[in-house]
Formats: sequence, C-alpha cells, structure tokens
Amino acid sequence: MAQSKTCQVLVVGGGPGGYPAAIRAGQLGLDTIIVDKHGLGGTCLNRGCIPSKAFIHAGSKFEEMVHHAQKDEMGLKVSDPTLDMAGVTEWKDGIVSKLTKGVGQLLKAAKVEAINGWATFKNAKTCVVEMEDGETVEITAENVILATGSKETELPFMKFGGDVIGSTEALELTERPEKLVVVGGGYIGLELGIAFRKMGSDVAVVEALDSILPSYDKELIRPVQMWLKKNKVALHTGCKAKGAVEEGGQTFLEFEDAKGETQRIEADKILVAVGRKPVTEGWGLETMGVDMDGPFVKIDHQCRTAMRGVYAIGDLVGEPLLAHKATKQGELVAEIIAGHKRAYDPVSVAAVCFTEPELVGVGLTPDEAKAKGETVITGKFPLAASGRALTMEGGADGGFVRVTARESDHVILGIHAVGKHVSELSGEFALALEMGATLEDVAGTIHVHPTLTEGFAEGVLTALGHPIHISV
Ligand code: FAD
Ligand code: NAD
Repeated sequence: MAQSKTCQVLVVGGGPGGYPAAIRAGQLGLDTIIVDKHGLGGTCLNRGCIPSKAFIHAGSKFEEMVHHAQKDEMGLKVSDPTLDMAGVTEWKDGIVSKLTKGVGQLLKAAKVEAINGWATFKNAKTCVVEMEDGETVEITAENVILATGSKETELPFMKFGGDVIGSTEALELTERPEKLVVVGGGYIGLELGIAFRKMGSDVAVVEALDSILPSYDKELIRPVQMWLKKNKVALHTGCKAKGAVEEGGQTFLEFEDAKGETQRIEADKILVAVGRKPVTEGWGLETMGVDMDGPFVKIDHQCRTAMRGVYAIGDLVGEPLLAHKATKQGELVAEIIAGHKRAYDPVSVAAVCFTEPELVGVGLTPDEAKAKGETVITGKFPLAASGRALTMEGGADGGFVRVTARESDHVILGIHAVGKHVSELSGEFALALEMGATLEDVAGTIHVHPTLTEGFAEGVLTALGHPIHISV
C-alpha cells in the first residue's frame, strides 16, 4: 500500500524555480516537500545553463591555446594543444554533480524533504509520486507550487535520434563532431554552435528568420555576426530545415534557402535548437482546474493559478524562459504562502546571451521605447576605448554599452551591451532599471577603475553629452 504524507507546501519540480521556492518555504518555517524526477537543479543545472557555460568556457580556453600555438603573442607560447571531448564532458559533469549535491544539502538545511520521483496529480492538492524503486507515496498539500519547467522542441519531420540531437545530448557528447550543423540561430544554437566552433568543429547554422538572435536588435548582433564570419561559421539565414537524409553512409541536413531552393550540408551531428515548450503533460495537470494561457499555465501577478492554493512558476508559465525569472518567482511564492505581501512586477528581466562576444539586454531598446511613445536620448560607448577591455583582449570585436533614457526626466529605460565579458555587467544594469535610476544617478556613482563597469558610466555620460574617454 502507498505511504501517505501531508504538508503545507508541495513543490513539483526541482529546477531553479522549484528548489529556491522550497528552500524559502523551509526558511519561513513551512512544512515543505519537493518532488523531482530528473535530478535536483532541473534543466538549468543538469542539462542547461551550467553545462552549456562549462562547454563555452572550455571552448574559449582551447581556442586561446590554439591561438597561442599559432601566434607568438603576449609573450605566451604553447605547443600542440589537443582537446579530449570526453575529458571536457567529464569536467562538466563534475561541476554539475557538485552543484546538484549542494542543492540537496541546502534543502536539507532548510528542513525540506526531497523526494526523487515522478508526481502525478489526482486532484489539485493530491499527487502520487512513483519513486525509482517502484514504491509510491501519496502527498496531500495545503499549497502546491507547480515548477515542472520546459523541454526541447522536436521538429516533426526530424525527430531526435541517430545524428539528430537536441541540446541535452549535445552536452553529453564524448566525441567532438567534426561537422556540426545547428538548426535554429537562437540562444542555444549560437551559444553551443560557437562553443563547438571554438573546440574545433566545423559549424554551420540554419535559421528560418532573416536574422540570428531575433530578440536582440541589429546593432547589437553585428559583433556576433562579425565573429561568426571571421571564424568561418556558415550562416544560412532565411532558410528552413526540411529534414535529415542519409546517403552513402553520410548524414546531410536538407533545407530550403531564401530563394526556395533545396540545399544540403554534410553533418556528423545535427543539433536542433528551435525553442522549448512547457512540460504540461503526463502529470495530471488536467485534473487540477487551472486555466491555460496558450501552451503555458495562466497565472496572475502573484503566480496564482485559477485554482485556490495552486501556484505556478518558471518556464511552465511563459516567457522569458530564464532561470533567474524562475528563481525570483519561486522565492516570491513561498513568501506569499507565508503571508507576506509580494507581487511579481519587475521593471525588466535582464537577459544575457553567452555568445562570442556576449550580449546583455535590460529594458527597452531605443526603437522599443519610441514605439511606446517615449522621446529618448541614447549614449553609446565603444569598449575599444575601455582600458580594462583592452587588457582582457576585448574592444577589437565591435563591443559597446548603449544606454537609452527618457529625454524629459533622464530616467533610464534600457541598457544594452555587447562585448567580451559584458555578461558580468548585467547585475548593475538590472539594478539601475529596478531602482528607477536617472542618468545623473549613474554618472554620480564612482565606478571602479579599471573595470568594464566604467563603460556603463561612460555610456551614461555620452547620453548626457560629455563623456571623458571618447570625443563627441
Ligand atoms: P526546469 O529547470 O525545467 O526544472 C523542472 C524540473 O521539474 C525538471 O527537473 C523536471 O524533471 C521536473 N519535473 C517536471 N514534471 C515533474 C513531475 N511531474 N514530477 C517530478 N518532477 C517533475 N537560462 C538562463 O537564465 N541562463 C542561461 O544561461 C541558460 N542557459 C540554458 C542553456 C540550455 C542548453 C538550456 C536548455 C536552457 C538554458 N536556460 C538558461 C533556460 C533555463 O534552463 C530555464 O529557464 C530554467 O531551467 C527553468 O527553470 P524551471 O524551474 O522553470 O524548470
Ligand atoms: P530560441 O527561441 O532562442 O531560438 C530558436 C530559433 O530557431 C529561432 O531563431 C527560430 O527562428 C529558429 N527556428 C525555428 N524553427 C526553425 C526551423 N524549422 N529551421 C530553422 N530555424 C528555426 O530557442 P532555443 O535556442 O531553443 O532556446 C530556448 C530557450 O532557452 C530560449 O528562449 C531561452 O529562453 C532559453 N535559453 C537561455 C539562455 C541564456 O539565458 N543565455 C541560453 C540558452 C537557452
């Protein structure tokens, strides 16, 4: 007979939405259980953010070694660097294992019970969890937090299998694909495509739209396009994948080009990265009486679903599908359940794309601000004029920081950057927007020298018309 348990808070899904929700609920003294089937840390820690950033780092390191082997620069010389893909993946697995174990310890310290298994709901407040050993436990909760996340989208005419892989399998490879074809020039396609290029693969990207990275504007993506060109990554924009074909023991991706003609590219692996979809099936969501918003679970500004006492967070509830959004919603919901007055109402959710160079976007671009009826002033500071960028071999890639502010009161509406290492500026950008900073607030803040943050201060001074390190 199934065991049964009751709790005040049941969290389903142990990703960056679910586990912080459980930790915060535990900290607040709520009797909490978290259930996850595929490893604490969810997509992000096990097969997403962290593994991909590990590959990106390894790729960059290898690329630098190859560069120094070919060119005597900076007084550094190495000879004959080699890359062992199995070694890279093993190193990545070590980081994942350390982090996921850490999540388990944090949950324990917060007195949260973690159950490894798959939860299926019978009704809004009761689920049955099937564990690894086939045992089941029935859990009835006063409050339920749904954090089941998202999964890879397959193309119906090119399912995963054989040489056609998704990001999960790409991050498990133990042999480097000599020829990698990426379908989808979005976040995953470009982050991983660039990482594999740096690790030595020949890479081609096939993107259906006219441009890669559609969520960033043209000016921002130009430095990424320049890197792809310089590094001989074949970019096929305006091209739709049609299928994988095998001929003479070799795999090819067939696609329709912008003129409507069929083309093919040889591939050892075809990485399909055409978006992700929420995990809404196979766990009894239909029994819970919640409303949907397209493919996502519908929530209000407090992450409440249409069913009393049932909350939903993270990728399950829609764009942006980002880990830090999920985490914020998780913490917030735990506090709401504990009786705190909280609402999910960020000025903006910062986004970073870990390409070469990196992209950061917070708030409105100049065009988006104008479309909202704002009259704006902008300031753009090239990182070629940043001493810190030059000491880190940045600046020559066309990178910059761009600040967009309302002309009338100088309130900053958006901050965008592209360049080596600019991801680390995203925190200051987000803080400035969330605090409602004006150009003068940032200009009046002393920024440490030499750091890339000076690029933000200079962008602000440029918007005010008096930068120090470029002439206007
Ligand atoms: P998930 O992380 O998907 O976690 C959901 C968990 O719930 C999973 O473990 C799943 O197995 C479990 N689950 C689902 N249903 C059940 C059930 N019925 N019973 C038990 N368990 C269940 N975002 C960023 O912000 N930055 C990045 O750099 C970044 N890089 C990424 C790179 C890749 C390759 C990918 C794929 C994604 C990346 N993302 C990144 C996106 C990020 O991973 C997601 O936004 C984030 O993981 C969403 O968190 P979540 O908690 O909503 O869901
Ligand atoms: P995406 O939406 O970023 O990009 C998918 C791309 O595939 C789009 O440009 C789309 O036009 C293209 N496409 C769709 N169908 C196609 C077809 N048949 N042929 C050619 N191109 C096609 O999706 P993704 O890269 O799979 O990433 C999923 C989500 O994961 C992202 O939206 C993001 O929220 C998250 N993510 C975030 C990060 C980060 O924060 N750094 C990194 C990776 C993933």
